[in-house]
Amino acid sequence: MTATAQFTPNDVPVVVLGAGATKACGGPLTAEILPQAFSLSLRHPDLLEPLNRLLVEKFRVPADRHQRRPKDYPPLPLVLTLLDMAVDRRHSLGPTWTTADIRAARESAEYAVFGVIEVMLEGPGNLAPHESILRHLAARTGRPPTVISLNYDVLVDNAMISAGEGQYPDYACDVATRAYRESGKWGELLKIHGSLNWLYCPNCHRLDMGIGRSGYTYKIARNTFDVPEYDASYERRRETKCRDCATPPRPVMITPTTLKDYRNPHISAVWYRALRVLREATRVVFIGYSLPWDDTDVIYLLKRGLNELPADKITIVEHGSAAKPGKPLEESDVGERYQAIFGREVDYQPIGFVDWLHSIDAM
Ligand SMILES: [Zn+2]
Repeated sequence: MTATAQFTPNDVPVVVLGAGATKACGGPLTAEILPQAFSLSLRHPDLLEPLNRLLVEKFRVPADRHQRRPKDYPPLPLVLTLLDMAVDRRHSLGPTWTTADIRAARESAEYAVFGVIEVMLEGPGNLAPHESILRHLAARTGRPPTVISLNYDVLVDNAMISAGEGQYPDYACDVATRAYRESGKWGELLKIHGSLNWLYCPNCHRLDMGIGRSGYTYKIARNTFDVPEYDASYERRRETKCRDCATPPRPVMITPTTLKDYRNPHISAVWYRALRVLREATRVVFIGYSLPWDDTDVIYLLKRGLNELPADKITIVEHGSAAKPGKPLEESDVGERYQAIFGREVDYQPIGFVDWLHSIDAM
């Protein structure tokens, strides 16, 4: 394994963040969300009840939460997909499971994702790795970085706000919140699966950016603009009305199912920009994205966007450390998938986010 080539002012890099980047900073992987939802103390345990009933009645997860093992839970993407299929086909799941019950379980599962991330990533704590790479790329290339994030959490948002000295990143969609509109912009952040701090009006399509209650975003936003227009907590989301038409807004989280809904016009705009920045990129760095074969929408985007980019311009940072690297390209499932999609010359770095940063910093 050779070291990743230095970034220079000629480079136009794009960083792609997957769940592993959040994991490295203490956040959950998808597989951990259901077990964690019922073992952590979420802020609104009552909102988990419809999901709990579904798991007990339809997946035979033990009713006593203390008796459950992580393996008792079905994978979250599977649960969401089955619920979406039932809604889509207008099926019921038995006499006590009407379409309304299925929708309630779907919303409850959405809260599980939100609630687990909210608890696991509370506070401004561990922005350092994200912020380091943003600052490194900005210093070496002479331009604010472009990031595509597959995560809902706001770690990278906060890191960009911090690295941008209080300016927000350009989200490439029509965020109506005044504080965001009036702020200068630093870099681009394309959240193709939505974000925990977004509120979307399904009636008039107004999109607002929640300004977090406990997070770093809020502190900076408050210090800088003194207008925390929204609170990021789920509770407040449910109470808030759209400023333009008074419809209750919804969170924007494209959950990991095979029936993903990209019809939200803001999400469409973000995907369009993501395709453009990938086409213009001269280097791409994937951090913590395992490229699962069933992620066909993302693979399609990457194939369309990166078709002209030589494989050696594509860096993949996987877990491991400099002292104890993960399996080499040829032996790792993740490495094999990247190789199959982009070619065998990809720059595969199974030394972890932090040690990889040290390796490019040292140059
Ligand atoms: Zn509205």
